[in-house]
Amino acid sequence: MAIYAISIEGAESLNNLANDLIVCANSVVHSSDILDKKIAGLSDGLGLYAEEISGITSRNKATLLQNEDLILELANRINILAGEIKQMCFAGVGLRIAGSGSAVNSYQRAIEGGGLAVPFVSALSQGLIDMFPDNRRKAIHTSYANAPEKITNIINRYAASLTNICESGYGRDNLGRLVKNGCFYSPQGKYIAMNEQLNDAEYTDVFKHEVGHFADDIMGEVSNSPEFISAMDSVTSKFDSNTPDGRQRLNDMLDDAFSTGACFDRNVTDIISALLVNSPTVEQRFKSESKTGYVANYKHDTDYWHELDENGKPRNTRGSEIFANLFAIETDQYRISRNFVERWFPEVTGVFDSYIS
Ligand SMILES: [Zn+2]
Repeated sequence: MAIYAISIEGAESLNNLANDLIVCANSVVHSSDILDKKIAGLSDGLGLYAEEISGITSRNKATLLQNEDLILELANRINILAGEIKQMCFAGVGLRIAGSGSAVNSYQRAIEGGGLAVPFVSALSQGLIDMFPDNRRKAIHTSYANAPEKITNIINRYAASLTNICESGYGRDNLGRLVKNGCFYSPQGKYIAMNEQLNDAEYTDVFKHEVGHFADDIMGEVSNSPEFISAMDSVTSKFDSNTPDGRQRLNDMLDDAFSTGACFDRNVTDIISALLVNSPTVEQRFKSESKTGYVANYKHDTDYWHELDENGKPRNTRGSEIFANLFAIETDQYRISRNFVERWFPEVTGVFDSYIS
């Protein structure tokens, strides 16, 4: 069992604990319902004792329900604590490189600049802003205040096709346990589902990525175009670790990511994860860098990168995530991340630029 200090992993463990508590509470109440039914089925056989036993079980049930409420409240508080820990991680606590910070999102930077006294207004259309819950509108405006016009224009142009921005709700993991859904964009329903448990900094960060999936879809799934796919292939081949050149370039790229602080941008690490399909060299490097401090290697797992659609064809999850991450980077205009992806993956950023300008 790993020991965590202040880290995203630690906060995620807390989220898992909260989910486990919810599942336990649900299953205890469910078992008590089964017991009630069994006793009801036996009522003739119990004769004299029927009344007494049903009194005991109903008192038991009342206590269980009270405890269930307490456990759900506890789970809720644990999730809030986890959210606060994540906020500390993004505010730069525990980071390896002092001053570079992981606060790559413009909301975090805007509030660090002391700008919150005068709320920023972005160029996002009122129609889009109205789709957010009341308590998120200010944060969204602030985080898009400096977004380039080409990004806000694309979002505004297509906003009428976005059907909803809703809460992501709960689902089941592969063991059948109840888990909080992450944020996602649904191409079928044309809506964006957001996890309302996130703090504003994370919420706005993730939204910039999800709206990138929406833009990709509504512009005709451009991340699946022959140009985009061939740009990805040519980048990937340049980092082939089976060749001395490829190995060298890969190590240079990683050195650059860690020395500039580009490694702290989740959009950057996820692009590397997609292009190089979780190359062991990359994984190893993040692991060894993390020994001296916390560096989040935000990424998707390898199974996801290889996912097939219902016809057995690759789903191009790599292209789709790369597009959404580039869209978020372009929105934030964070110089370190933008320069990094242009320097190392120019084929991909070139095609991307042609779609958004
Ligand atoms: Zn995504």
